Amino acid sequence: MSVFTSALSGTCAGVDTWHFVSYDQLSQDLLPKNKDLGLIFIETSWKASQLPYHKQKLALQLSNQRHFALELQDAGYAVKYVFSEKEYGEVLAQLCDELGEITVTKPAELSLRRSIQPLVEAGRLIVLQHTGWLTTTDDFIKGAGENAPWRMDKFYRHIRKKYSILLEDNKPIGGKWSLDDENRLPWDGAVDLPKTLTFTPDEITLEVIDMIETKYSHHPGKIVAENLPSTAEDTKRMWDWAKASVMYYFGPYEDAMTQDHRTLFHTTMSSLLNLGRIMPRTLLNDALALDIPLNSKEGFVRQIIGWREFVHHVHELTDGFAIDSTPVKARPAAGWEGNWPVAKITPNVLENSYGLPPTFWGEKSGMLCLDTAVSDVVETGYAHHIPRLMVLANIGNLLGIHPRELTDWFWAMFTDAYDWVVEPNVLAMGTYAVGEVMTTKPYVSGTPYIKKMGDYCGDCSLHFKKSCPISDMYWNFLEENQNHFRGNHRMAMPMRTLAKRTQQAKDTAQEVTHYVRQQMTKGKVLDPMILQSIKS
Ligand SMILES: Cc1cc2nc3c(=O)[nH]c(=O)nc-3n(C[C@H](O)[C@H](O)[C@H](O)COP(=O)(O)OP(=O)(O)OC[C@H]3O[C@@H](n4cnc5c(N)ncnc54)[C@H](O)[C@@H]3O)c2cc1C
Repeated sequence: MSVFTSALSGTCAGVDTWHFVSYDQLSQDLLPKNKDLGLIFIETSWKASQLPYHKQKLALQLSNQRHFALELQDAGYAVKYVFSEKEYGEVLAQLCDELGEITVTKPAELSLRRSIQPLVEAGRLIVLQHTGWLTTTDDFIKGAGENAPWRMDKFYRHIRKKYSILLEDNKPIGGKWSLDDENRLPWDGAVDLPKTLTFTPDEITLEVIDMIETKYSHHPGKIVAENLPSTAEDTKRMWDWAKASVMYYFGPYEDAMTQDHRTLFHTTMSSLLNLGRIMPRTLLNDALALDIPLNSKEGFVRQIIGWREFVHHVHELTDGFAIDSTPVKARPAAGWEGNWPVAKITPNVLENSYGLPPTFWGEKSGMLCLDTAVSDVVETGYAHHIPRLMVLANIGNLLGIHPRELTDWFWAMFTDAYDWVVEPNVLAMGTYAVGEVMTTKPYVSGTPYIKKMGDYCGDCSLHFKKSCPISDMYWNFLEENQNHFRGNHRMAMPMRTLAKRTQQAKDTAQEVTHYVRQQMTKGKVLDPMILQSIKS
């Protein structure tokens, strides 16, 4: 018997109301307020067989779920912890046969909602409201409108006004709704970088790690035990650390990237937040109460009441960007070795069709910005917003990678990724695969942005002017997709500049892109001399 299973008391006699706690609802705040409740947890290897989830992600989810089950048992709840290999709907059907009607808080993930739908329709599983969101569908519709396209800033302003957040006389404190133009400093070393928090794994966490290293050894990534907050107390420590060590400078360095520090002044709270270990309300209220500069406070509040809530609503209202069935050319699990379910059908407005190159699984490309971002993800399951958007998704999009493959990679590799959050972020924001549903234009850029906001170029084997291919890929991307951007006024300026480029510059951009695609598909490092000769 394992340490965990022997810690479970197994006392369930006399319980007549059962509630299923989903894998990402690990909070007492999300439970019905009935102490005589029996709580069901399901740990199924089926989930891990859907995508090659990073080992750190599996460890984080399972160690938190197991600890949460024991924390609830200590709090007096009866706990039924089921191990299985089947899909959630199947396991719950058996449990309904055994226990009768079961309640569940509305799952955030569409995949889980779909899996339990037949039981819900049969009245065997009763869905309760999820009180962990800060805004309602009605808020979203009133703020952003009933139909796409939706814009985050409109929704955000509505929520600030409706809930009187950072307002003075009904106007935004500081005079503007967004203080982002104060939040664009590159890393300049002007202040001390925060010391990273570490955790000591207990027996239960060590057992989870052991199990993953054996049972899921075919999954990518590695487990860093000291980077695994597992208990309720660990989550509290993490948020206390974020409040004390990063929130003050959250704003100004929000977009900065440096080789010296993976997380800079980001909170790294998303994985615990998306697991339900802490409620967004706590983050919001605590952030509002902090004595920190307004640009940091407003910047953080916008992420929590703006972006996070916004993508959740968009995903739910579009049913996960459901589209009519078009054949999917993407490979299962973005080409990761092994047998994985067929890739999901996905919108693909730009008709990108290249496979995810081995670089994303850890082979070197020679582009230091990309190689650093990938190795950070392989080592930790984390990268902050700008490497995700302006390095990983940007270069992926410029390469023309199939958006499903890129999405599945993000979904598998990031410890905070769940369908409701990863799909809008990659398919809409990162790749423009859904067109203008929630962004006005693709977030693409050339070398200058990465050079300005990061400190990679000086150490890169590719010279930022002579051999870095990213700007050429950017121009070639605009050329290849010009039909899609005609009439898009936000793209008018780059398209005008594109039109003024000489044919020779366009041919060079095409040749550079072709060379990069060819090399990266083979998992080969880019040769600076070859790139230099194409570009000269
Ligand atoms: C291509 C791409 C993929 C992404 N995939 C995910 C994902 O799978 N899961 C995820 O939680 N976030 C995702 N994001 C959003 C964002 O990058 C992460 O939430 C953030 O980097 C998490 O790190 P942090 O906790 O240190 O964030 P901080 O910078 O400290 O921000 C605070 C919090 O704001 C919230 N937040 C900020 N931006 C977003 C956003 N766009 N969507 C949702 N929440 C947001 C997060 O909960 C985050 O913890 C993605 C962004 C991009 C561009």
